[in-house]
Amino acid sequence: MKTAVVTGGGSGIGLAIAERLSADGHHVATLDLKPAGPGFAQAADVTDRAQVDLALAAVRERHGPIAILVNAAGMDGFKRFTRLEFADWQRVIDVNLNGVFHCVQAVLPDMLEAGWGRIVNISSSSAQSGQQLMAHYVAAKSAVNGLTKALALEFGPAGITVNAVPPGFIDTPMLRRAEERERLGGTVEDHIQRTPVRRVGRPEDIAAACSFLVSEEAGYITGQILGVNGGRNT
Ligand code: NAP
Repeated sequence: MKTAVVTGGGSGIGLAIAERLSADGHHVATLDLKPAGPGFAQAADVTDRAQVDLALAAVRERHGPIAILVNAAGMDGFKRFTRLEFADWQRVIDVNLNGVFHCVQAVLPDMLEAGWGRIVNISSSSAQSGQQLMAHYVAAKSAVNGLTKALALEFGPAGITVNAVPPGFIDTPMLRRAEERERLGGTVEDHIQRTPVRRVGRPEDIAAACSFLVSEEAGYITGQILGVNGGRNT
């Protein structure tokens, strides 16, 4: 049993990951804008280092040092690049990339002290394929994949693995909001027909991959980008 922190653990993919790690027997704490999710739910905006530090201090007080971090907090955004204002660009980079920076840097001392750690960053299949109207989001998620590889090299010798899971087309509030706003280029049902496994992804599909990547037996896997996307990106 280890202490695991899941950002964005109040909704969708993060929620499923928090539930799965809890079922796996870990002490789970979630960080989200609103305190929500299973386990020890803390409110924190991942773009604000002071809020992250405060929430993690509360987690340590309750459950001890943090051994597992899954960064699932994220936000999308849809705008033609020529209409993208710098503030739009900056917010999406801030949440999806800088939030990962803050959370990883804040938990690393615990992992270094223990000589063991597992970090999984939830990026996006759009970093593999590109995605129109999402230049800021694709840039941020691509950077998360790059950051994952760099950290894997830097902290492998310290017993810490760092991997990324880029989800593709997972049925969450984020996906359904995009469908409602007609940002998907068709309905979810239309997309199912273009997905090799012929179904929409479930948050539990991502949670299963995370459960494995944070396990003891995944210790030889680091710096990898494990696509979970029904074959939409290969
Ligand atoms: P979701 O249902 O919207 O969940 C995201 C969670 O992150 C929400 O609870 C959200 O809070 C929280 N959050 C947003 N900004 C935050 C911040 N600054 N600090 C702390 N928490 C914050 O979306 P999801 O589909 O589960 O997405 C989870 C991750 O998977 C994201 O990183 C997303 O980019 C990635 N992803 C999803 C898909 C997909 O098909 N669903 C595909 C590719 C990548 P609020 O709801 O209050 O904003």
